[in-house]
Amino acid sequence: MKKQNRLMRHVMSLLLAFMLILPGSVVSAQASGQGDMAVHFIDVGQGLAILVQSGGENLLYDGGNRSHADEVVQYLKNQQVETIDYMISSHYDEDHLGGLVKCLDNFEVEHVLGSDYVHTSDLFNTFMNTATAHAIIVEYPSVGDTYEFGTGSFTVMAPDGISQNSNDNSVVIRLENGNNSFMFMGDAEETSEQDMISTGMNLDCDVLSLGHHGSASSTSWDLLEASTPSWAVISCGQNNSYGHPAASTMEKLSDMDIPVYRTDEQGTIIALSDGDTISWNQEPCNDYTAGDAKQQSTDSSSSQNGQYSGSFSDSASAAVEADTATDTQGRTVWISATGSKYHSRPDCGNMNPNKATQETEAQALSQGYEACKKCW
Ligand SMILES: [Zn+2]
Ligand SMILES: [Zn+2]
Repeated sequence: MKKQNRLMRHVMSLLLAFMLILPGSVVSAQASGQGDMAVHFIDVGQGLAILVQSGGENLLYDGGNRSHADEVVQYLKNQQVETIDYMISSHYDEDHLGGLVKCLDNFEVEHVLGSDYVHTSDLFNTFMNTATAHAIIVEYPSVGDTYEFGTGSFTVMAPDGISQNSNDNSVVIRLENGNNSFMFMGDAEETSEQDMISTGMNLDCDVLSLGHHGSASSTSWDLLEASTPSWAVISCGQNNSYGHPAASTMEKLSDMDIPVYRTDEQGTIIALSDGDTISWNQEPCNDYTAGDAKQQSTDSSSSQNGQYSGSFSDSASAAVEADTATDTQGRTVWISATGSKYHSRPDCGNMNPNKATQETEAQALSQGYEACKKCW
């Protein structure tokens, strides 16, 4: 018995020693060291949400879509977030804004930075009203504005003026920590990229969070040449209906030999900057396959197994999807693209009948719609 204990202790101490001498390839998720800044590209399916932690401060750049809102809140809580010092809403499309409303309700938020345009959607109104309810005034930063954050700072690169294209209104930031830099593009497209280049500002960065989920309308050669990133991160959903990322974008990255991280393949990706070097919680996947090429190869299996097939990158989202699948009904419901509720009839007074489209209840639920209290 005693001998066994001694053997056990010996094994344990060996294990411990082994863990201590492991090379620094696996980074801790916390920005705990002096000068550290952790950048979390949170897997929110088809959408974008980035959490940055440094010096006890938190910055949240977008919050993913509505159906991932609870996961984003939980993710932040797991990182001990209580106060969001800067909440940045790049623009008001649902796949970026959806999760921010719940974050306003769940955390103390010091500053909300947004883009100075009006988006005609219930979600936009809800977001603005929720901010007001928490006595928060949404601030509209100008190009060149710089904010101290943690051990570094960030500078607003766009938008320079307001466009009809919601994506081109994205608030783009360049985040610096010592010699390391990150650029978060939101959904900015080529027009905005050209505007940024014409300002003559420093667009060089180590990590580029690709605009518009890697779509063909973003990440022009000019932008890549101006930013020369050492790593590219793409936030997009598995088998997304847009075919993101685009073949043309992936070709450029491949031609420039830029290592690629993708949330659709790798789940949440974490970069840790100490001001000198950037380390990651995993290796880049370097998969330069376009979204639509992937879709074709998996189409046959997904149609056999229904929309809930496919592997999910984390167990939380798998559980959410599985839950949805179990109480799914095939009955037809009505939704509008800009609403947040699904309805039993197209003429429900809580929905614009001209914008109503039919879905199954399962589809509506999976997109984050909730039952309208008026008509159910
Ligand atoms: Zn967008
Ligand atoms: Zn988007």
